[in-house]
Amino acid sequence: MTISAVMPTYARTDLVFERGQGAMLYTVDGRSFLDFGAGVAVNALGHAHPHLVQALKAQAEKVWHTSNLYRVAGQEKLAGRLVANSFADSVFFCNSGAEAMECALKMARKFHQAQGNKDKFRVITVRGAFHGRTLATISAGGQAKHLDGFAPNVEGFDQVAYGNLNEARAAITPQTAAVAVELIQGEGGIMPLDPDYVRGLRAMADEFGLLLIFDEVQTGMGRTGKLFAYEWTGVTPDIMALAKGLGGGFPVGACLATERAAKYLSAGTHGSTFGGNPLAMAAANAVMDVMLDPGFLPHVQKVSAYLWPKLTAIVAKYPKVFEVVRGKGLMIGLKCRVPNGEVVTRFMNEGLLTVGAGDNVVRLVPPLIITEAEVDAAVGMIDRAAALFAA
Ligand SMILES: *Cc1c(COP(=O)(O)O)cnc(C)c1O
Repeated sequence: MTISAVMPTYARTDLVFERGQGAMLYTVDGRSFLDFGAGVAVNALGHAHPHLVQALKAQAEKVWHTSNLYRVAGQEKLAGRLVANSFADSVFFCNSGAEAMECALKMARKFHQAQGNKDKFRVITVRGAFHGRTLATISAGGQAKHLDGFAPNVEGFDQVAYGNLNEARAAITPQTAAVAVELIQGEGGIMPLDPDYVRGLRAMADEFGLLLIFDEVQTGMGRTGKLFAYEWTGVTPDIMALAKGLGGGFPVGACLATERAAKYLSAGTHGSTFGGNPLAMAAANAVMDVMLDPGFLPHVQKVSAYLWPKLTAIVAKYPKVFEVVRGKGLMIGLKCRVPNGEVVTRFMNEGLLTVGAGDNVVRLVPPLIITEAEVDAAVGMIDRAAALFAA
C-alpha cells in the first residue's frame, strides 16, 4: 500500500504546529513563524486569543451539541448580531463556506420556484471565482482544475468575464435566477471587483428580478477593514455567504439574507445536523464580542494603512520579483513575476507564512489583530526573501 492514511488531497508543506500565540505559530521541533496566512484567512483574531479560549472552554463544560430539533440560544444571539450589523433579516448556520454558498444557491432557486417560476434556476458567476468544493460550488466556480474528473457538472451556471457588465447582461435568460460574486476574488488571486461594476450588478439584478448573492466567505468579518466588504460599495446583496473568519478558527458558516429572499426556506426545506451547534456559536459569538468593539475595525484600517505603502515600496524595489500589490485592508495579493510557490517557500525560509493563490499571486491575509511591529517584521522578511531572488 502506498497511499497515506491521511488521504492525499493536499500538497502539504512539511511543518507541524504545536501551538500558536497571537500572530505567531510554533512547530513541534521548536521553529517559530509569523503567520500571515492565518489558516487561509480564518484566524481573524490570531491564535489562542484569550477571550475565544475562555468562551470555548466555558461552553465545552456546559453542552456541545443538541441538534436543530431545539432552539439554540447561541444561534439566536449570533443571528441577532449579524442582522443588526448587516443588510440581512435572517441567518442560516452551517459549518463551512461551501455549505453557506450551497444554501445561497438553494435559496435563489427556491425564491423563484416557490413563486411558480419552475424553470428559473440558472446563476451567473464570474470567471476565476471560487465558491467551494462541493459538486454545486465547483460548478459555480467553473474552474477546470477543480472540475476535472468530476463530470457531469451541476447544471445551471453561466460564467461571464470578470468586470464586464455587458457580458453579464447578455448572459441573462428567462431561466436566470441569480448572480453570485466574490467582491474580491480570493483563491482566484486577490482580484477586487470595481465598485461601479458591483453597483451595475445590483441595478441589473433589480431590473431583471434576479437575486444578488455576495460570497463574503473570505472578504467578510473585518478582513477588508469593514465588517463586510459590500460596505465599501454602497450597495447590499439579497443573500450573503460567510465562513472563514466567522468562528476565528472554529468551523462555522452562515448564509444571511433579506426576508424577501429567505422567506420560502420554511421548516423542512433545508438543514444541517451540526449547523450552528452550541460550541460553534460560542466561538463565533466570542469573535463578534471582539469585532463589535468600537476600536476593532479602526485598528484593521490603521494597521493596513501602515502596511500598504511598505508593500508598494517593496514591489517598486524588486520589479523582477513582484509586479503589483492589490486587494483591500488585510486581504492583500502580491502578484509575482517569479513562480508564486517559490516566493511562498522563500518567505517561509525567512520565518513568514503566506498562502498562494491563482494568477501567480502570494496572499497576505494576517490575523486582524497584528501590530505595527509585526508588520515591520513581516516587511523585513519579505525584503530579505526578495533580495535573495533578485541576487
Ligand atoms: C474558502 C472559500 C469558500 C469555501 O469555503 P470552505 O469552508 O472551504 O468550504 C467559498 N468561497 C470563498 C470566497 C472562499 O474564499
